[in-house]
Amino acid sequence: VLPERLTRLVTLLSRLPGVGEKTAQRFVLYLVSQDAELPRRLAEELASLGTHLRPCERCGHIAEVGEPDLPVWCSICKDNKRDPRLLCVVARVQDLLAIERSAAMRGRYFVLGKLLSPLEGIGPEDLPLETLKRRLDEGEIAEVVVATPPSVDGEATALLLARELAKRNVRVSRIASGVPHGGDLEFADQITLGRAIEGRKELV
Ligand SMILES: [Zn+2]
Repeated sequence: VLPERLTRLVTLLSRLPGVGEKTAQRFVLYLVSQDAELPRRLAEELASLGTHLRPCERCGHIAEVGEPDLPVWCSICKDNKRDPRLLCVVARVQDLLAIERSAAMRGRYFVLGKLLSPLEGIGPEDLPLETLKRRLDEGEIAEVVVATPPSVDGEATALLLARELAKRNVRVSRIASGVPHGGDLEFADQITLGRAIEGRKELV
């Protein structure tokens, strides 16, 4: 019953995480009821995502593309006030953002992009371990804080990292429990997450 153009937009929006068809329909009806300004700005921003944003070449966080000759680094990698000795390894950008909200991490990050998962067929060779090791070769990092989620896959990934980095001259620690098992870092409150990072323990 909606015009074809709007149905297409509803279908596209329903592909976003957490957006069902009803919500998508509400978005679309709201957008057509507004003056053209909001839809136009949304369209502009969306169209520029692919050209202006890329994974940070150093850590995998989202970075803004600058001058063509400059390396693409995120704001955290560029931030001189960060402690260069601390590197926090997370599974996803959402986890990095959750830890940043807790303000408990003074160092920088490394985003794995995925977790080890035998069930889903994700093995060690699918993780960016070589990039991580190259990062450690830079020599400044003294401690790797593994902040993968407290799930089966998160623990397996933490053990893999401990094993892979065992012969390196770095301390490898794991955030303390406190975040419920199987829980998602993204939904842990800031205080719990802050305590989990402060109470991290060395992995053997
Ligand atoms: Zn970065």
